[in-house]
Amino acid sequence: MKRYDTIVIGAGMSGLAAGIRLAQFDRSVVILERHYLWGGLNSFYKLAGRRFDVGLHALTNYVPPRAKGAPLTRLLKQLRLRHADLKLGEQRFSAIAFPGARLSFSNDPTRLEEEVAGAFPNDRDNFRRLVERVRAFDLDGVHAPESARAVLAEELSEPLLVEMLLLPVLYYGSPSEDDVPWDQFAVLFRSIFLEGLARPEGGIRTLLDLLIQRYREAGGELRMRTGVRSIRVENGAARGVVLDDGTELEAERVLSSAGWVETMRLCGREAPAADVGRLSFLESIAVLDTPPAELGHDAATFFFSTEDRCRYRRPDALVDVGSGVISAPTNFASETPLPEGLMRLTVLANHGRWCALPEEEYRAEKERAADAAVASASRFVPDWRPHTVFRDVFTPRTIQHFTGHAGGAVYGSPRKHKDGETGIDGVYLCGTDQGYLGVIGALISGIAMANKHGLAGALAR
Ligand SMILES: Cc1cc2nc3c(=O)[nH]c(=O)nc-3n(C[C@H](O)[C@H](O)[C@H](O)COP(=O)(O)OP(=O)(O)OC[C@H]3O[C@@H](n4cnc5c(N)ncnc54)[C@H](O)[C@@H]3O)c2cc1C
Repeated sequence: MKRYDTIVIGAGMSGLAAGIRLAQFDRSVVILERHYLWGGLNSFYKLAGRRFDVGLHALTNYVPPRAKGAPLTRLLKQLRLRHADLKLGEQRFSAIAFPGARLSFSNDPTRLEEEVAGAFPNDRDNFRRLVERVRAFDLDGVHAPESARAVLAEELSEPLLVEMLLLPVLYYGSPSEDDVPWDQFAVLFRSIFLEGLARPEGGIRTLLDLLIQRYREAGGELRMRTGVRSIRVENGAARGVVLDDGTELEAERVLSSAGWVETMRLCGREAPAADVGRLSFLESIAVLDTPPAELGHDAATFFFSTEDRCRYRRPDALVDVGSGVISAPTNFASETPLPEGLMRLTVLANHGRWCALPEEEYRAEKERAADAAVASASRFVPDWRPHTVFRDVFTPRTIQHFTGHAGGAVYGSPRKHKDGETGIDGVYLCGTDQGYLGVIGALISGIAMANKHGLAGALAR
């Protein structure tokens, strides 16, 4: 029977990053991925002769090359990648729109400060203090759980400003409804507003190709279409895995990016029902006959809410189009212009409702929901439906199918495991449910968990 030092479950961002670190230190490592494509939640596909990214709106944490101490700089060093390899094109600006106010921000944090001072003069100094509090927050420290909504309400006097700052943070990384723990808010606020947004030229494929190349150069083994049916646990410790086809592989340790609830199930245990994430999305991708800027839409990313209190909860209906995020890839700087205009629109969706629909109804509802979402967004931006030449729509059902995440929960379980421990010797978590979210967060998580659980001895020498 083949024996490895580490088996990594999943070839998403965290699994690939963990694999690279372990292989760089000559550990025998295999990444097992159930699907035929790598990338997990951020993969790519071809449809009707066009290439699409699955989810990519933007990479967070943008900093220029060699910026000291920044997560992106540290990540590139650990994976032995160059900043230039990512071909990052910065956002020109992004915006947050509510019925009562609009704020824009860019990769220069003073823009948001000025916008807040203009729209909420009473909170000008309070906002500065909030930014200082976020900057001073020790991300590696141990903190008592605190609600970000409560901290914001304490720091700021304008409830609308609280809602406007929460919306992007919730949409880009909260596994909890209507709120997020303050420590996660601090991480996300920094990565979105104090660092910034950029898009790799060529989309997610540019990053994924680099990761796969590094992994293979370092000698790592990658097995696609290789699902893990169960993790073998004996006397409270990992022994290896059993694959979907019944083959057994042995390993010292298993590093799983499948998620907390999902990994427990693989170990034959059941996590509490409350640990299953409730938040999932419907996303539509529209190819336009003209760049969105020609229609008057210049923002790279655009967060909107049709009500002054943003709702970020699992809807009772199939979707809630009262809020959403629009991403326009052509509104990021790029040396090679994209061949066609593209608009992505993400809104909240109910996983159970989508999964209960018979096939024909499912298809019809997808189109209906995508139309309703654009109609709602068009309160703030030009309606792009008359310019749409092709559209693809995916739902929470698609997300669960391609990633295995219970409930199609994009940001996983509300219960995170910062140390990666599962309570079973040799079984560790990386990625979404370790607690770092988004593409950059997942890469950082993979590196951190490989360093901690697979390389501690080597790195201490
Ligand atoms: C619509 C959408 C838009 C997004 N937009 C952005 C964005 O613009 N910017 C950003 O930073 N982030 C974005 N994200 C979030 C980001 O994609 C994720 O946070 C990140 O990619 C998670 O990576 P991961 O490695 O933790 O998990 P995943 O990507 O979920 O990877 C887990 C992998 O494990 C595999 N797997 C699971 N179980 C098994 C098993 N039993 N056997 C074998 N393989 C298994 C899955 O198939 C999957 O490939 C978006 C997500 C979605 C869905």
